[in-house]
Amino acid sequence: MFHYTIICFLLIFSFYLSFSLETIDLSWDLNNETIYVAGMQKFNFSKQVASTSQRGYWYSFKEFCVAEHGGTHFDAPYHFHQSGWKVGDVPLSRLFAKGAFLNMEEEHLKMGRDTRLKVKDLENWETRNGKFSENSVLLVKFGRSKFWQNRTLYLDLEGETMHFPGLSKEAAQWIANSKKIIGVGVDTPSIDPGNSTDYIAHRILAENSLYNLENVKLLTDLPETGFDLVVAPMKIEEGTGAAVRIFAIVNN
Ligand SMILES: [Zn+2]
Repeated sequence: MFHYTIICFLLIFSFYLSFSLETIDLSWDLNNETIYVAGMQKFNFSKQVASTSQRGYWYSFKEFCVAEHGGTHFDAPYHFHQSGWKVGDVPLSRLFAKGAFLNMEEEHLKMGRDTRLKVKDLENWETRNGKFSENSVLLVKFGRSKFWQNRTLYLDLEGETMHFPGLSKEAAQWIANSKKIIGVGVDTPSIDPGNSTDYIAHRILAENSLYNLENVKLLTDLPETGFDLVVAPMKIEEGTGAAVRIFAIVNN
């Protein structure tokens, strides 16, 4: 009888969990259409085998070539800081994080193609939600994911120069100083604005051991706080970056 009660309880509990937790995929597919900035190796299957063997069983394998920094990807601190962690060095404790979400889409529409995330935007987030939690990853939605299917629109190219929003230097410094935020994700190819030449946000965050998530798929809004994030980069030991699978777990 006791066991029966426990089993019933577990069934009801798992039923409850399956309805109260929503898992949202924040990674774009890797395929031949995946967006890379100029000069980067696009995703490409360099070898493909698919056949039925003489013994009658199906057999398939592929090999691929790809740049570290393209599609939805992870920037290790070493990318912009010589003594920073490489992908394989980033502690696992930093890959399961508290999520924080900041919607900058309206600001981007108002301020245009070179919009910068400002300190005021971060302070306003804290006014609404309280201080950022320990071990937080901040996801900033500029509303660029809807252009993912069109490289020219997504990169907003003007000749060779790209134009998409990003973090201001001051906002990057504020984030680093918070000591609570361990990573920043954006729905653009870079946390620095597209027309940046000094990559100052990358440099500040890398020096402070933060990682970046770029080309995050942010088609829907997340709650500003109260969700978890799983960040799982391919474990390229010496990598400066890697393709990353990210998902949010939202408790509805
Ligand atoms: Zn990158």
